[in-house]
Formats: sequence, C-alpha cells, structure tokens
Amino acid sequence: MTTQTAPDAVATEAAADLAAVREQWGDLLAAIGRPPRAEWPPRDSRALGAVPEPGDAPAVGRLPLVLREHPAPANLTALDAAATTEREFFELCDTVAAAVQRPVRRVPVPVISQRTRWISEPTDRNDPARWTYAAPTDPGSRTYGLHWAAVWLEGRALAEESGDLFTPVRPVLLDEITATARRARQRVERALGRDGRPTALDRPCPYCRGQLTAHTRSGDPMAATVVCATGSACTAPVLLDHGRRTWQGAELVGLYVAMEAAQRQV
Ligand SMILES: [Zn+2]
Repeated sequence: MTTQTAPDAVATEAAADLAAVREQWGDLLAAIGRPPRAEWPPRDSRALGAVPEPGDAPAVGRLPLVLREHPAPANLTALDAAATTEREFFELCDTVAAAVQRPVRRVPVPVISQRTRWISEPTDRNDPARWTYAAPTDPGSRTYGLHWAAVWLEGRALAEESGDLFTPVRPVLLDEITATARRARQRVERALGRDGRPTALDRPCPYCRGQLTAHTRSGDPMAATVVCATGSACTAPVLLDHGRRTWQGAELVGLYVAMEAAQRQV
C-alpha cells in the first residue's frame, strides 16, 4: 500500500514541465532585450499566431536558441531566469548522463610490433543521442543550447528507447529531474508574467478608456482573459462576465486589433 505517485505519472509531469520550459525559451530570450512592462498581448510565439510581431526574432522551430552575452540587458529578471535555468539543465544533464549513459565503446587498433591501442569508436562517440560533457576546449552538447538539453532530459525521464545507450533513470534521479523542471517552469513563467498573477495593462480599454487587467494561466497564453474595469457601461462587443466586459480565446485578437487602432489615433 503506497500513497506515492506512480513513476509514470512523475515522468509525465516532468516531461510536461520540460516541454513548457523549452517552448517558452525563445520568448524568454527575446524578453531579455526588452524593458519589462505590463504589455498585452504578451509577445508570445504561440498566442495570437495570426498577429505579426515586427522586430521579434523567431522563437519557434528547431533553431538552437542559445543564451548569448547581452551587453545591455533590458530585463534583468528574464536574464537571470534564463541563465539560472540553462545552468541547472546543463548540470542536470551531466548528472543524468553520468548515471545512465553507457561510456563510449573502445575498439582495438592493431599497431605493428607494438601493443594494441584502444581508441573511442567514432560512430558511438558521435551518436547524436548522447549527452556530451563540456571539456576545456569543447562545450560538448551545451553547444545546442537549452532546447536540446530539455529534449534529452525528457527522453530520459520517459525512458525512451535508444539501443543500449541508456539504462533506466532510477526513482531518486527522476525526482530530481521532476523538481528541477517544475522549478524552471515556475521561474520562466514568472519572468514572462505568465504565472497566473493578474497584470494591469499600460494601455486603456479601446472602447471606454477603462482599466484593463489580464489574467493568465500557467503555461497557456491562449487561456488568458482580459477584463475591463468599467462594467456594463463599456461598449466593447463582448459578453459581460460578473458584470465586466471580458475577452477570451479568439476575442483577444479583436481586442488586440482595437487597441492597435486606438493607439494609431493618438
Ligand atoms: Zn471598456
């Protein structure tokens, strides 16, 4: 009889948090270069996909989104969150690889009239599924940035098959992956203002000049709602919720367009 969560559930939770971190990583890196402010809509690569964000670097896809030196970071919270998360993930990869990854196979090289020499088998050494440690002259798998580290950790947490390269992650180590991933997701979402706290927006309601407040839900920008403080006197073309005009889902695109139009008239 046990009340502990099943290992499968722990692994799934870890994988979900790791995916949330890497999916928001591009946004976090982009946020470093911008002063923090109560901005809506969030400049998010996933929310409001139809709305172009001029000047933003692409934040999705398989590009290695690597944290770089910022000569003048505008958002120190974002920079700190990115640096801490990257360091923790890389160190965790080192720890997990040391525990579960098979060392590179050695193959003999016959040398005439000498003892046989043993060298690393190149194919095995260069197996892309491997986590490669950093060396003084070579950053190893760190070259590929946090995204790859998160994908690699997901694979280990979920015990993905990879020949005989990895042994299963033991429960204690799985708990460490889970805790690190959860902490990282909270840190990243806090830095991006997506941790569920209500945010008073800088720009007023385009219909009544009332105060707008955004409410986000962790990890899902499309689940955001925006509420106008004015009440039923506000003429916005959305339904009242608890007596307040409230935008959600696809209505947020309409609000965004109206806010942009109001901005242009100023
Ligand atoms: Zn309003």
